[in-house]
Amino acid sequence: TTSEITAAEIEAGRRAHELDRAHVFHSWQAQGPFAPMTVLKAEGSLVWDGEGNRLIDLSSQLVNTNIGHQHPKVVAAIQEQAGKLCTIAPQHVNDARSEAAWLVAELAPGDLNRVFFTNGGADAVEHAIRMARLHTGRRKVFSAYRSYHGGTHLAVNLTGDPRRLPNDSGDSGVVHFLPAYPYRSYFGSTTEAEETERALRHLEDMILLEGPQNVAALILESIPGTAGIYVPPAGYMEGVRDITRRHGIVFIADEVMAGFGRSGKWFAIDHWNVVPDLVTFAKGVNSGYVPLGGVAISDAIFETFRERAYPGGLTYSGHPLACAAAVATIGAMREEGIVENAARLGAEVIGPRLRELAAKHPSVGEVRGAGCFWAVELVKNRDTREPLAPYGGSSPEMNQVVAALKAGGVLPFANFNRIHVVPALNIPDELLLEALEALDRALDVADGFVED
Ligand code: PMP
Repeated sequence: TTSEITAAEIEAGRRAHELDRAHVFHSWQAQGPFAPMTVLKAEGSLVWDGEGNRLIDLSSQLVNTNIGHQHPKVVAAIQEQAGKLCTIAPQHVNDARSEAAWLVAELAPGDLNRVFFTNGGADAVEHAIRMARLHTGRRKVFSAYRSYHGGTHLAVNLTGDPRRLPNDSGDSGVVHFLPAYPYRSYFGSTTEAEETERALRHLEDMILLEGPQNVAALILESIPGTAGIYVPPAGYMEGVRDITRRHGIVFIADEVMAGFGRSGKWFAIDHWNVVPDLVTFAKGVNSGYVPLGGVAISDAIFETFRERAYPGGLTYSGHPLACAAAVATIGAMREEGIVENAARLGAEVIGPRLRELAAKHPSVGEVRGAGCFWAVELVKNRDTREPLAPYGGSSPEMNQVVAALKAGGVLPFANFNRIHVVPALNIPDELLLEALEALDRALDVADGFVED
């Protein structure tokens, strides 16, 4: 419906769009053909586009707004903090930062008791690697193909998806390994147990060939997000922890997307009995209301920097507005049982409904996920698993599926041949069911591309 939006708001949106096309340089795009959607306003799990159409936000804005848009407690906390103190240099104590660090340390696994705050995910990843290199005195870093770790220099070199390639510096010290990915096993596995065993053997072989004495860190998303929300098979994360420990390699769990309740637990690594040495986080820590990320640090790595200076910093490290938003977000998540709700939605609504859709639609190759973190992988042929769009690319077929979802009233997050179902963790059940209805109809469009 357009009734919630006024003509004046639509007019203001038109002007914003004109100015955008004239002056804004967008991420990851060929600037010419890019046709961005205007968002006039957002509330909870709803957004309104430039024409005033109401859309259900199934994207959470790059898997970010874990508690939905404009949560009143968080908005109030930012306003209150803005009235008190808007900015402070990182070397001074600030109550919002102290409180946020304490909360993150309390929620983080094991002995990760110190927090270094950054402006977002990519710089959290960069600092985690720097800490690992200084802690070990080694340089090489292992990361997975089919991963996303950010768009800055080192982070994009760590990233496994093909967007890395035009950025590849060749001297980053990064070594990529093949991840466990049962649906498209690189190891020819036919069962999950086989995939775990073979992927771990591959990883350890590569570490031995590269020289463990040269490997500072291994970074891995606890549940890889942008690369396809492929949940690691049983035993894999425990195996990675074991291999890294035996070779003195710092294990960094990248929880930028999977963390803060997204998968139905505070951190996705909590699905396994594994404590990493460093955890990177961002996005959900304050639902992205003010840019914030960080690194949670183990006691052992902290000791490296007790007497020795840490050679790195950021003007906005632990920004008061961002930290006040984090304190309010975590508080609201606890008071309102939002993480438990994400687990319930995954187990009782999204998972069962997506499995029904997979049974009904021949274009669905696989559905997988946890909590409010799910992927629907689309194929032209279920037997050959030929994807509906190539890895790292787009296709007219996928574009039509996405257009059908939007026409059905849903703002989707689509990536290559996948539709990601990543709503806010507190999306009302009826809106979620409405969005999954629209997905059902969009999959009819995808079925039209299935080869006999
Ligand atoms: N790591 C992971 C796992 C991510 O998903 C992202 C962002 N999607 C990043 C790092 C980079 O975060 P940012 O865009 O805030 O720099």
